[in-house]
Amino acid sequence: MSDPSVRVDRLRELLAIGPDDGVLLTDLDDIRYLTGFTGSNGWLFASDSSLRLITDGRYVEQARSQCSVDVVEARTIVEMISVVQRWATTRLLFQSSQVSVDLFERLKTVSAALVPIGSKLADLRRAKDPSELACIERAVRIADRALAEVCPMIDDSLTEKDIRDELEYRMRRHGADGPSYDTIVASGPDNSARPHHRPSARRLEEGDLVVIDVGALVDGYHSDLTRTFAVGSCDDVPRARYDVVRESQARGVAAVRSGVPARDVDEACRAVFRSNGLEGEFVHGTGHGVGLVIHEEPFLGSTSTAVLSAGDVVTVEPGLYRVGLGGVRIEDLLVVEETGSRVLSTFPKELICLPSRPTI
Ligand code: ZN
Repeated sequence: MSDPSVRVDRLRELLAIGPDDGVLLTDLDDIRYLTGFTGSNGWLFASDSSLRLITDGRYVEQARSQCSVDVVEARTIVEMISVVQRWATTRLLFQSSQVSVDLFERLKTVSAALVPIGSKLADLRRAKDPSELACIERAVRIADRALAEVCPMIDDSLTEKDIRDELEYRMRRHGADGPSYDTIVASGPDNSARPHHRPSARRLEEGDLVVIDVGALVDGYHSDLTRTFAVGSCDDVPRARYDVVRESQARGVAAVRSGVPARDVDEACRAVFRSNGLEGEFVHGTGHGVGLVIHEEPFLGSTSTAVLSAGDVVTVEPGLYRVGLGGVRIEDLLVVEETGSRVLSTFPKELICLPSRPTI
C-alpha cells in the first residue's frame, strides 16, 4: 500500500481529532485500509499523535510485519477493553454504525465520554490511490480472462454449478486469492430472472439466457463483472430485451464523471427502461463502489445523495428481470476521472451465443 500515514492523517482530519480525543476503529476493512493489517481480529486506536493496534496472540507477529504501528497483545475482549482504558482520552470516538450492543455495553465501562461517529468514515476509502487501482485492475483482468476462457466450454452439457466451479478455478490459477463474492450463474427463464440467484444443478438448455456475475479478489481488492449470454441461439424477444439493457448500460457509463450526482447515473439507465415501458423490471440500483469491500460507497441509486469524484471505482449494472422470460444484466467496472471515466472491464458486450470464443 502507499504511505499509510497519509491515510491516517485524512482520518484525523475527517474526524477533527483534537488533543483530548481518541478514536477506536473496530471495522477490519477500515483498519486494513489504514494500516495494512489483514488479521481477523483487531482494533485500532488513534489519537492526534499516536496509532496503536490491539490484537490477540494469533496475529501479533503478523501485525508487526504488516504495519508500522505499535502493536499491543490482548487475549480476550476484556483485556482489549482494559487496554483502551489505559489510553483513555477525555472523549472516545467509536464506530457506532457497526458496534454491537454487547460491545457498546463494554465500551461504556471505559472512563471517557463516548462519541458515536455513525457513518462519518463511509467516504474514507472512496478515492482509490494508484496502488489500490493497480490491484483492482489486476482483479478485473483475471475475471475477464477466466470468463473468456470458460465461454467456449459452455453448452447444454453443463450445469450452473459446473460453470461457477470452472470460473473460480481459473481465477485462482490466474492469480486471484479467490472469487470476489459468490459467483452467480443464473440460467433459463426463471433462474436468470433472479438478480442474485445461487448456482444450482440446473443443466443449461438451448435458447437459455445465462447471466454470469463474476469477480476476482486480489490483495483484498475486488472486481465485479456481469455479462449475459444466449445458449445456442437467441429468439427475437430476448434479443430485443438484451439490446435495451445494452443501451441503458451505455447511457449509464456515458454519464459517469467527476461532479455528477450518483443518482443521475441511475436516472440515465432508468430513463431507457422507462421509455421502453420496462422500468418496473429494473428491480435494483444501477451500481455501487468497489474496493476492499464489494459493495461500498458511493452507491448509484435513485435515492443516492453521493456526488461522484475522481478516484471513485464504481459499477454500472442495469438489468431487466421477468420470471418466465428470463433476465439480462450487463455490468462494467469504471474508474471516475476528472473529465470522464475509464471502463476497466474489457469483455465484449454484444450478445454472444455460446459456445463461443470472445476475444478480449
Ligand atoms: Zn455489482
